Amino acid sequence: MAVEGSVLVVEDERDLAELVCLKLSAEGYRCSAVRSGLEALHAVERRAPDLIILDRMLPGLSGDEFIGRLRHNPRTCRIPVIMLTAKAEEVDQLVGFSLGADDYLTKPFSMKLLAARVAALLRRARAAGDSPDVIAAGPITVDAGRHLVTVNGKPVALTATEFRLLQALAGARGRVLDRSQLIDKALGTDVAVIDRTIDVHVTSLRKKLNHADEGEAAARWIQTVRGVGYSLREPVNE
Ligand code: CA
Repeated sequence: MAVEGSVLVVEDERDLAELVCLKLSAEGYRCSAVRSGLEALHAVERRAPDLIILDRMLPGLSGDEFIGRLRHNPRTCRIPVIMLTAKAEEVDQLVGFSLGADDYLTKPFSMKLLAARVAALLRRARAAGDSPDVIAAGPITVDAGRHLVTVNGKPVALTATEFRLLQALAGARGRVLDRSQLIDKALGTDVAVIDRTIDVHVTSLRKKLNHADEGEAAARWIQTVRGVGYSLREPVNE
């Protein structure tokens, strides 16, 4: 069964875009198509769709760049995206880069499969509702639903522990968490760890944030509170 919703198709191959729109319209969706990443940005600006089908190879602004911009904007960061790729290898690459697409289809694909994926993704998005699982702190965004951390819109590959650590700090919204609280939240209560373990993870986390942000501002958001623990808040310039 189809789900209500509007779909934006971003695809420069006119025939394919038409085919996709025909199928989705027949399924009851409101469907519109644009042919470049830039047009897509404008379309999303005018009216955010419920879902985007995004070709990876586009003239001008690529699908990868477009999704980066989309995820960077708090207003659009949660729009589900199905990415279309030319080759199966590209899917591996995409997953590796964790660009933030919710699903992938390799060309050529059947319209039936596409429609099924669209319905599934829209249902999932509805179920997630407006739960506040995206927290932004300066250049850093922690998206618990997608299990994605971005710095200035760029995804950062973190280990599961680093992710939970950052999530805990972001969730505290500026409050200081001591090391035992962080151990509970990031490592679990049933593991035998020493306080120093958290420091090691924080060091590695900062390094990765630094790497993602050339201005090095992002890493400075994780502040050491001497003798207590850590907090995630805007760095104060000394
Ligand atoms: Ca293309």
